[in-house]
Amino acid sequence: CDQAELLRNKLEIHVKGGVIPAPVLAFSSCGLPQKLLQNIETAGYVMPTPVQVQVIPAALDGRSLLVSADTGSGKTASFLIPIISLCAKLYPNNNSNLRKPLAVVLTPTRELGIQVEDQAKLLGKGLPFKTALVVGGDPIARQLYRIQQGVELIIGTPGRLIDILTKQDIELSDVKIFGLDEVDCMLQRGFRDQVMQIFRALSQPQLLMYSATISQDVEKIASCMATDIVTVSIGKPNR
Ligand code: ADP
Ligand code: MG
Repeated sequence: CDQAELLRNKLEIHVKGGVIPAPVLAFSSCGLPQKLLQNIETAGYVMPTPVQVQVIPAALDGRSLLVSADTGSGKTASFLIPIISLCAKLYPNNNSNLRKPLAVVLTPTRELGIQVEDQAKLLGKGLPFKTALVVGGDPIARQLYRIQQGVELIIGTPGRLIDILTKQDIELSDVKIFGLDEVDCMLQRGFRDQVMQIFRALSQPQLLMYSATISQDVEKIASCMATDIVTVSIGKPNR
């Protein structure tokens, strides 16, 4: 029983799939940019939550993940921190001429999209990191304009993002991370084909997929999009 395994047992972190990076108990040990560490501190996050302890190092290592953990366990920051870190590392000089979307995060609802963007703004403050929110209820032209001004992260619902991609060619070839929050909910809402359509517009991104429960449907869509997936579930094993 090695150190990593002891820590996983203690925090009830269950993992499956290949050689998995060790869990890391402090944000400061993850190799994150200094400014991001400051923002994490300002947000009041003293220690990573169990899901963050495992997901952040694995995501920073480039692994595709399928994650389940209870509501309120800090899943949002577990994908935003690796996304922001990647953007800061790829655009270290804050050169706005280079801005192209580097990550796309899908959420099942407008409300969840808003929450994710709020947290992204908080954690990405002062970094070369801009976001565009692409959800229903706001004018599509303004969202498109925002993307064209240059953003690193697009957050959106599948339907509205497809609408935008149909209207205008958006350069998505640099997208390195594809995040799917509450994917079970997206599947229940019948977004499967739209999610796959968006995935096909990307070039083999790293997948960060979240679901309340890991059903066969969820495993199936994950395996359509990535190989060598690491499964992380917190608390109850194998749900
Ligand atoms: P969920 O897992 O349901 O997506 P959230 O990501 O929305 O949960 O996180 C729930 C709350 O916990 C949010 O208010 C968030 O700001 C806070 N939070 C996230 N990570 C930490 C942390 N490491 N320490 C303290 N609070 C945190
Ligand atoms: Mg969430």
